[in-house]
Amino acid sequence: MASPTQSGGKICAICHEDCSSRARTKDRAGRYYCQECFDAAMKKKAARKKAVAAPPPPPADDGLGLLEDFAAAASSAPGVELADPDAPVAAAQPMHAHGGGVARPAGANREVSGGVPEFIKQPWFAFVAPTLILGVLYLVARGSPDTAVIFLLPQFLFSLVAGVLVLIQAFRTGIVAGILTFCLFPYTIYFAFAVNDNPHIKALFGVSLISSIPAYIMIFQMGINMVTPIGQAP
Ligand SMILES: [Zn+2]
Repeated sequence: MASPTQSGGKICAICHEDCSSRARTKDRAGRYYCQECFDAAMKKKAARKKAVAAPPPPPADDGLGLLEDFAAAASSAPGVELADPDAPVAAAQPMHAHGGGVARPAGANREVSGGVPEFIKQPWFAFVAPTLILGVLYLVARGSPDTAVIFLLPQFLFSLVAGVLVLIQAFRTGIVAGILTFCLFPYTIYFAFAVNDNPHIKALFGVSLISSIPAYIMIFQMGINMVTPIGQAP
């Protein structure tokens, strides 16, 4: 019986059978997966991503079609590296190892983004989209104290969410950073922009800070409007 290391045996990392004479896929770390194990692992991974990201569920046959494209592209090119083969084996992967020249399977990007346009995931979009929405609401709301809530309520809720995201990041970093971020607003700003390395959270928190300026001005002016009649009374 041949040992796995002899004669370049291609041993599946999951079922440990020799798959050198069968359809197979090789990952970045040089491990082999027979087609059955690879397909099963990719299906599991896709199901997990759907459960986590919960986008509008694509038709079942569409998802399988993408996976088959991906698997076929990967296994037909012997030297190709998978973009992210973390599903079969949860070992440490060199996540930043792929340079510009690495051929990526045609289906990889679609598989990762799950049908959502790529720009929605960019950090600048996390800045531009809420800025536009809050800007329009501000223009609608600023005419009168009666309509101010059209801007003030969404701005408040948005800032709350952005603040909670920063807080979660802080507590992930450590208990001290979390408590400081919760109690000390200057530290919150410092943490959000200098320590936190999530560009989306930076963008959202930046919008919440910027949009709080017109919100405070609006509240201040409403306060004056409410006080003035009393002040004018004899
Ligand atoms: Zn296998």
